[in-house]
Amino acid sequence: MLEIVHQWMDEHMTIQSARRRIRDFMSVQSSNPELLKAQYRAFTRQMPMMYFILLSSTWALAITHMGVAPLWLTAGVPSLLTFGCLLRVLFWLRTRNVDPSPESAHAALKRTNRLAGGIAVAFTLWSFGLVPYGDAYTRSHVAFYMAITVISCIFCLMYVRSAAFIVTLIVNGAFIAFFVSTAQPTFVAIAVNVLLVCAGMMSILLTNYRNFESMVVSKQRSDALSSENYRLANVDSLTGLASRRAFFAELETELEKARASGNRLALGVMDLDGFKPVNDLYGHSVGDRLLVEVANRLSGLLTASTPFRLGGDEFAIIAPLPPENDQLVINANAIAAKLREPYHMPEGTVHVSASMGIAVFPDLALNREQLFDRADYALYHAKKRQRGGAVLFNSDHERQINCDAKIESVLKQADLENELSVVFQPIVDIRSQVTIGFEALARWDSPTLGKVSPACFIPIAERAGIVSSLTKPLLRKALGAACCWDPAMRLSFNLSAHDLNSEVGVLALIGIIESSGFDAKRLDLEITETAFTHDFEQVTQSVATLRRLGCGISLDDFGTGYSSLTRLHALPLTKFKIDRSFVTNLHERPASYKIVKSLLTLSADMGLDCVIEGVETEEELEALKALGGTSVQGYLFSPPLPEDQTIEFATRNGHACNKIAV
Ligand code: C2E
Ligand code: CA
Ligand code: CA
Repeated sequence: MLEIVHQWMDEHMTIQSARRRIRDFMSVQSSNPELLKAQYRAFTRQMPMMYFILLSSTWALAITHMGVAPLWLTAGVPSLLTFGCLLRVLFWLRTRNVDPSPESAHAALKRTNRLAGGIAVAFTLWSFGLVPYGDAYTRSHVAFYMAITVISCIFCLMYVRSAAFIVTLIVNGAFIAFFVSTAQPTFVAIAVNVLLVCAGMMSILLTNYRNFESMVVSKQRSDALSSENYRLANVDSLTGLASRRAFFAELETELEKARASGNRLALGVMDLDGFKPVNDLYGHSVGDRLLVEVANRLSGLLTASTPFRLGGDEFAIIAPLPPENDQLVINANAIAAKLREPYHMPEGTVHVSASMGIAVFPDLALNREQLFDRADYALYHAKKRQRGGAVLFNSDHERQINCDAKIESVLKQADLENELSVVFQPIVDIRSQVTIGFEALARWDSPTLGKVSPACFIPIAERAGIVSSLTKPLLRKALGAACCWDPAMRLSFNLSAHDLNSEVGVLALIGIIESSGFDAKRLDLEITETAFTHDFEQVTQSVATLRRLGCGISLDDFGTGYSSLTRLHALPLTKFKIDRSFVTNLHERPASYKIVKSLLTLSADMGLDCVIEGVETEEELEALKALGGTSVQGYLFSPPLPEDQTIEFATRNGHACNKIAV
């Protein structure tokens, strides 16, 4: 019994699923919106053609029956059918260029499905109505009309499979039944012929439809893939902000819009201060989470502007329709203030700030490159003079850029060997008043520009990537002069980060030192903390190589950088040089006084020597003595001296100098 029930259920299910499949086949499926739209688009193009074939062959048949069949059948019905068809043609022509929504495409195709049945019945009944009239020729015309027209309709309805099938079923079903029933051998043969042709046509149509369907689906997939690729390229994977690539594209678009509408456009570029120490101290995963937090804060703060991550700890903001400049800077500073608030991480509370450079179109920047370069220039100024705040690019900056460009171009063509020279500033032990060494400082006397300060041309040479070509002659000259000094005296020489960025560069320096005859153990190479922000690994390696040679390594401008203590500890330093900014009036500025005191303590704790720079007054000197400072440098003792005055100065200041060579 149970088996019978199962069998019955199986059969029932099979019948049910077969029914469902037939129903699906005979209706327009809506599960794939893209397929619906593609069907609709292809179909729209073919419909006017189908109606044209249908109507022209209908009227041809009507004309051959004129005078034989009644007028209502040869003119009345065809006119009515023509009217209905023309309405449809108009509809398809009107919607030809409209991009349909999946819903409207589905509705239109469903309507076509229903109408296809109605139209097929109407035309079939009309053509059968003509059969009783006329002779064998006219009857053959009816058979020809029905057979050939249905074939062309199948072709035109190809993209709506169900409609093509309905039309074939109605027209051919009736056609075959009718002509077979006449028992007239020619008509029976035609009916069989048409049946076979239509079966073949339907199979071609089904294959074509499947190809069409898979073509649409694979296009959909490749579209999805390319949109995923687009997303990957345009979204920063860590923070979810728009990426550097998206930034440049968006900047161009917004700039075009601003140009077209005569509006202003502001660009802010931002760099975190103190991010690298966080990375060093807590590790990269905390650094990454901090960047995400910064990005979230930034997104939360902006309403009418878009944030981007340019890479590392650099961000950018594009602000269409910015407020007036003053307000713009106030807003940017408010953003910076928010970003300065502490970040609470499970590993501890982290403090960073953000410096921002802003440029505005069309004030002083007219194209994308200018806008970016100028915002970047303003950022450089913010970093130097207004850390954690915003700087708007202004006309002074523009003058500076032009001046720098001029200096750069002259420097690139300069005869460095002849135009560069070195002066020497004494370093004095304040306990004994003895000169313990000199710091070599570069001078450039250009035939076109005159004397240019190293504070000006060194950073320009660094930015232009040509500083190493200056370092070499300067080092040769400094060592050449120092060879004449008393062997107890040391030489300090300033190096740039770029000098330490490559192994080849360091080897060149070693070559110069070794061939000078000056004992490397008497040489102190001064580097600033910023040197380590370039390529920490390479710079550390270069420093270690120079240490092995015997050179001392001094950390210049100590206190102005943002290195973490862990980082400093990792370096093979021998000396600190406390920056002049802490020394100026330190006896009247408790903050400076405390800083110098702690830096002196720190250097003593680390077992390092410490030189205090920029001592200009007796008061400063007294304060430094009270703090236990020993080695100082500054105008109070001497400005930088030409080479030929060094020996005299040292002798006068208590150091017997043995001249070795002239
Ligand atoms: P620095 O290495 O910090 O050099 C000290 C600067 O302070 C020198 O300026 C010196 O003349 C000045 N100075 C010394 N004592 C006093 C003082 O009591 N009061 C004041 N107001 N200034 C004082 P200079 O010679 O103009 O050099 C400026 C900067 O240019 C240097 O700062 C250094 O960063 C760079 N520089 C100079 N020569 C070279 C070089 O050969 N190579 C590299 N890479 N940089 C150099
Ligand atoms: Ca120095
Ligand atoms: Ca210095």
